[in-house]
Amino acid sequence: MTVSTTFLGLGAMGSALATTALDAGHRIVCWNRTAHRAQSLGERGAVLADSVEQAIVGTGTVVVCLFDVTSVREVLEPVATGLSGRTVINLTTTTPDQSRDLARWAGDRGIDLLDGAIMAVPETIGGPGSAIFYSGSAEGFAQHRQLLDLWGESSYLGPDAGMAALYDTAMLAGMYAMFAGFLHGAAMVGSEGVPAGEFVRRQAPFLAAMTEQLADYAATIDEQDYLGPDQQSLRFTETALSTVMQASTGQGVTDEVLKPVHDLVRRQLAAGFGEHGTARMFEELRSAR
Ligand code: NDP
Repeated sequence: MTVSTTFLGLGAMGSALATTALDAGHRIVCWNRTAHRAQSLGERGAVLADSVEQAIVGTGTVVVCLFDVTSVREVLEPVATGLSGRTVINLTTTTPDQSRDLARWAGDRGIDLLDGAIMAVPETIGGPGSAIFYSGSAEGFAQHRQLLDLWGESSYLGPDAGMAALYDTAMLAGMYAMFAGFLHGAAMVGSEGVPAGEFVRRQAPFLAAMTEQLADYAATIDEQDYLGPDQQSLRFTETALSTVMQASTGQGVTDEVLKPVHDLVRRQLAAGFGEHGTARMFEELRSAR
């Protein structure tokens, strides 16, 4: 008989993961703190448990998708003994250090932890473009590959349990900075009554074209070659940013989104790197280490 998989947490994401597994023929046992959220999965054939203790009895792997690391600890700690010798796949968003702590906590109790970071939204789970990074237990990743691949493209980033969360948060840093930049621009043209819907028609393709430059930036950073040909100098970038910030304040829009970027550039200029490429901001960013 096939062993059931336990799903703890049936919020928007947990439900999407559980539904996909169920639809692919997996036997699943589900638990959610607020019971009514589990109802529709029950109607589709999942076994509903009244408690976490009940949800993990007689099943195999345990998939956890809760709000944050605190809720994960609150849910798992009381049942740690029952999880010993089993694999827990944590798909809750965490920081790298939280994932490492969780893996240490799990390891001390004989629990095999595979930590995952979901690069998708619930609606795209199991569809094209859904990707999930994993790190921690290599054995857990290999053993559960069939289940993991149901949710999206699975990548294993190594035994350090923090790596999936590190990639996740690093990629989100780029995403949130881009969103803030877009909102800043929308506020600028909005100050003259231009609707954001009109602005986005021009901004989105421009940003997409600019992403072509990321590979050049990456090569420059990896080669530490900030004086190579065809690089936009930090001095040029400082002038461009000053102009954009002046234009913003002139339109009554705060320069708060751009100021930290400008400050990074200015510190590199003050250190004498004005003729170096703009990618040298990377050195300023990591100087806090
Ligand atoms: P929801 O807010 O929809 O669900 C949160 C879940 O956590 C619910 O099941 C909730 O239970 C449960 N929960 C919260 N606190 C506790 C607690 N103290 N004890 C027990 N259960 C608790 O969030 P999502 O499902 O969208 O997100 C879940 C995780 O997935 C998050 O870490 C999120 O960052 C990650 N993720 C989500 C994405 C998305 O687009 N939604 C994208 C990528 C990652 P209850 O129903 O009782 O409140």
